[in-house]
Amino acid sequence: MTGTPTWYDEGIQHIWLPYTQMKTATPPLPVKATSGVRITLDDGRELIDGISSWWAAAHGYNHPHILDAMKAQLDAMPHVMFGGLVHEQALKLSSRLAAMLPGDLNRCFIAESGSVSVEVAMKMAAQYFMNRGERRTKFVHFRGTYHGDTLGTMAVCDPEEGMHGMFKGMLAENLLTDLPRDAEGAERFAAFLKVNAPDVAAVITEPLVQGAGGMVFHTPETLQWIRQACDAAGVLMIVDEIFTGFYRTGTCFAIDQAGIVPDMVTLSKALSGGVAPLSVCVARDTIFDAFYDDDPMKALMHGPTYMAHALGCAAANASLDLFEREDYEAKAEAIQHQMMAELAPCGFLDNVKSVRVKGAIGVVQLEDASMIEALKPKFVAEGVWIRPFRDIVYLTPPLIIEPADLTKLTGSIYKVLSEA
Ligand SMILES: *Cc1c(COP(=O)(O)O)cnc(C)c1O
Repeated sequence: MTGTPTWYDEGIQHIWLPYTQMKTATPPLPVKATSGVRITLDDGRELIDGISSWWAAAHGYNHPHILDAMKAQLDAMPHVMFGGLVHEQALKLSSRLAAMLPGDLNRCFIAESGSVSVEVAMKMAAQYFMNRGERRTKFVHFRGTYHGDTLGTMAVCDPEEGMHGMFKGMLAENLLTDLPRDAEGAERFAAFLKVNAPDVAAVITEPLVQGAGGMVFHTPETLQWIRQACDAAGVLMIVDEIFTGFYRTGTCFAIDQAGIVPDMVTLSKALSGGVAPLSVCVARDTIFDAFYDDDPMKALMHGPTYMAHALGCAAANASLDLFEREDYEAKAEAIQHQMMAELAPCGFLDNVKSVRVKGAIGVVQLEDASMIEALKPKFVAEGVWIRPFRDIVYLTPPLIIEPADLTKLTGSIYKVLSEA
């Protein structure tokens, strides 16, 4: 690259980039600053963000309320170990999340990354049965899902996505099946679960949207069928709301649309408004009760060094303030309507297979995945940050985006695809 700053030229030799074949990939763009829905590149160009930094920056970047809360926390205490000590931000966050989530989802284990919160949920599920004298070590998971990149979570991702073949022998062997999408599928799933129940600690799923697996949607009934099958078979249900949580699908949580109470819910990404690594595994009282005992062996033996990071929890509390102060359901709905109207014309292009929108998620699926890589620089040239993957071009914009900026995003998709 020409015109890149010295820190870029020197450091790029030493950094290892995510999901990237570094020999052949287009070099990453140096970013200088962010503000609202805009990313400013080092050379001064501004891009309107259509991705929200992997769906995390729900309130846009550098929101003054979040930054002020973090600055105040930074002065008082950036962090303190959570073993034997607690602090206001973590306890406040826990009681607020317990109040926001349905039913008796009341106990919060606060970690750093989404993957770790899923690992914690899986560990809780397995130990829940151990503490009750039963050994169950397997998980039921679904084709097309994504739950993280660590070895434990890889073993509940779609095997093709996670390249399970390559890692065979290293990954736990779990039970893969199809999401129940109709009454017949629900019956098949219930029967499958019943047969395998003696080995299965929990079923794990993403609710309403399989995000990183390709932005594939399902209905609230699917979640209800899974909950019913879990109840009938005596198996726990883990719902991974890391992508869907905090209004991405229209309601605060995707499970709100199904009216179900999972045994564990995982949250991250928009939890902190995209400014700090923070995740939570929230468990029902019934799960916590199985650990609450005089026997020290029945405790949950888990505790990341930076768990309940005070600065991150302060950011999350400020993020929750914003979700409470303004009507985010209305914001997501307005985005949904606008994307439906403005992405629909893409459906008439020859290279487009389908267009779909749910909440603040807009997807244009292409006929040919091989054209994706060539699209990326074209979006940048249009002044937008849109990062297609596999065969889809998608938008998950900050929920505070103004209609004119959203029109710029949808218009760029139409323009780039019609010229491709
Ligand atoms: C992003 C994501 C994860 C993993 O979170 P990390 O913070 O990247 O570890 C897990 N599940 C879902 C549904 C996600 O979207």
